[in-house]
Amino acid sequence: MITAAVKTPNSNTEFLHSSSLYPLTKEKLRGKPFFPAVPHVVILGAGASKAAFPDGDKNRKPLPLLDDLPNIVGKTWTNVLTLASPPVSGFEAQFSWIRKCGKFADELARVEALLFQYFDELELPDIATIYDCLVLGLRAKDTIATFNWDPLLLLAHRRNRHVAELPDLRFLHGSVAYFTCPDHDVLGSANERCPICGKSLDSGRLFYPEADKDYAKHAIIHRDWQAVTRQLSKAFHLTIFGYSGPETDYNARQLLLSGWGKSPLRDVSHVEIIDVKDDGQLRGCWREFIPYHHDMVVSDFWQSTIAKWPRRTADYKLSASLYGIPAEPMGPLRTNSLAELQEWHAAIAEAEAR
Ligand SMILES: [Zn+2]
Repeated sequence: MITAAVKTPNSNTEFLHSSSLYPLTKEKLRGKPFFPAVPHVVILGAGASKAAFPDGDKNRKPLPLLDDLPNIVGKTWTNVLTLASPPVSGFEAQFSWIRKCGKFADELARVEALLFQYFDELELPDIATIYDCLVLGLRAKDTIATFNWDPLLLLAHRRNRHVAELPDLRFLHGSVAYFTCPDHDVLGSANERCPICGKSLDSGRLFYPEADKDYAKHAIIHRDWQAVTRQLSKAFHLTIFGYSGPETDYNARQLLLSGWGKSPLRDVSHVEIIDVKDDGQLRGCWREFIPYHHDMVVSDFWQSTIAKWPRRTADYKLSASLYGIPAEPMGPLRTNSLAELQEWHAAIAEAEAR
């Protein structure tokens, strides 16, 4: 255990003396945060939306995993497959192959329109969801970057904005609910105007994973990728929730790694994986991201750092990594009541402003 005040590598930030931290009770954690505002970055894949809405959306429409997408497009997709006969399996690989062969643009446009409509119609249930816990459990210094097209994360962000300062949201493959200005980094809704230049906001589009995808080609998506890699280069903690990093996302993984590899906190940085898959398989999949074996695999959100130390993940993690001081869990709070969840998080956020 280090007992003297220490400095973060490549930074002049002096942390607290460890004697003032111990014991790290939940009451102490609910007070003003005591570590510098270093970012926590969360990457969401289709497994996260599936876990957050196990019974589907408000109208019980299921949240599909990638391989469930053919069921949504049904005959339209089957017809394209018959015409194109792609020599690969899996929706993403097939879609990518057919697009690359360049002969079926109209058919693929119909498939895209059906997918957009399905996701666009999804609605947030009235009860508290894991996405509410996720946006309330992080602070404005943090980032949630999602590969998902569904609107539910953004809707959860909107309905909790009045409660506390929430994390930055980024859409790595676009989203049906995403509206932005082509010239300014703003996040709005349909019929809104850019608060900087007054232009109408453009609707988001969906980006399909491709093995050789060049994210820099599309200005809007490039902006979000840059924001995420910038945050990763300063982050202390990376949570990967329900994202399997498929082969078709090779460039995506490399981009994420390029940011994460630069973190000045890399020696103590931590990767947390929330996934139902086998531990060994997950660690193998993300091994380049975990150079010092600082990793944790949990099978559900309720065991995650965000659920157990909402809005204080940095204080929990840095106390443990730098001083070896364990923190008493503050949560999780599991409730169906959105009002109760909001009130509980608002009380924690109140101390941040003091
Ligand atoms: Zn603008």
